[in-house]
Amino acid sequence: MNLKMPLVDLNAQYRELQTEIDAAIREVVESQQFIMGPQVEEFEQDLAAYARVPFAFGCASGTDALQLALMALGVGPGDEIITSPFTFAATVEVIALLGAEPVYTDIDLTTYNLRVDQVEGLITPRTKAIIPVHLYGLPADMDELLRIGHQYGIPVVEDGAQALGAYYRDEKVCGLGAIGCTSFFPAKNLGAFGDAGGVFTHDGDLADRMAKIRAHGSDKRYWHELVGVNSRIDTLQAAILKVKLPHLDRWNRRRQQVAGWYQELLDPTWVTGPVCGEDRTHIYQQYTIRVERRDALQAYLSEQGIPSAVHYPTPLYLQPAFRDSQWDDRCPNSEKAANTVLSLPMHPYVTREQVKMVVEAIHRFFEQD
Ligand SMILES: *Cc1c(COP(=O)(O)O)cnc(C)c1O
Repeated sequence: MNLKMPLVDLNAQYRELQTEIDAAIREVVESQQFIMGPQVEEFEQDLAAYARVPFAFGCASGTDALQLALMALGVGPGDEIITSPFTFAATVEVIALLGAEPVYTDIDLTTYNLRVDQVEGLITPRTKAIIPVHLYGLPADMDELLRIGHQYGIPVVEDGAQALGAYYRDEKVCGLGAIGCTSFFPAKNLGAFGDAGGVFTHDGDLADRMAKIRAHGSDKRYWHELVGVNSRIDTLQAAILKVKLPHLDRWNRRRQQVAGWYQELLDPTWVTGPVCGEDRTHIYQQYTIRVERRDALQAYLSEQGIPSAVHYPTPLYLQPAFRDSQWDDRCPNSEKAANTVLSLPMHPYVTREQVKMVVEAIHRFFEQD
């Protein structure tokens, strides 16, 4: 059986907007303004309006967005950052790069987001930021995190790389914390044609610092006020993203529809599906289930031509690059999730027929023994 079913269908999205995207690319190529061309600021204005913040800046990747945020907050050696160990490595990589230390809460097994009830107990005089990751597209418990942040004077930096467009109460993700960070990696809900990312803030000083830091600490040619990095967003990527951004909400709604089909058809006897509270929306960057015998199921699905992925197989304190044994046994939910999660095909062009085929294959696997 060949379903021709990709985990993520980037081609379909390109075909849908091909005329506009090709024209946008041609315009940049003809202008030859590859660095900070006018499309960058145009896109940034659209992006700020989209996230309902006064300031948004493009940068070179979602990873750099997190790094710019922490640099703007002055994070350095000896500082501690509270976050989740069950996320993509970039979240913790930037903490390590700046010489700071990740401090981990476990995750909540129903939401896969950090356990907010553990945050206060981990705060020390060296805590410089809290980074909730809105994993798989589901916003973390921001009210409580912002309350804690306010009480202790600790900024909350949102890792919204998987959640752009999700709502938390009436507010948009990336516009809730001191700084929001997102990724335009091609497979994210809003994907560029290469690496790109963005930062968001309500704070004019932080905005000013991030805008400078991403361009060698400078906003005046050959005058460097801060130690920065080279992390501008390419004009080409900004031009492409400007075409795509107006479609993001529609694509996210399609993902929610696909998720609804999975939820309707999957048998809860074998599969634990994602849960979303009434006070927020899930935009399903991933549709991730939890199952027993995950690896065997994944192999079986693969034989049937159904792709799937594990986000993520290893909590970060167990990774060689970030190995830290003090967290062993303190994050049982993260370890359980790492061993049992499986992400199923999810993108705006998945059909109900395809969902049915995936679900039937999963049920066959569990029924056959
Ligand atoms: C994708 C992702 C990043 C990094 O984004 P890049 O654009 O790939 O650098 C960071 N955090 C999370 C949670 C991500 O999913």
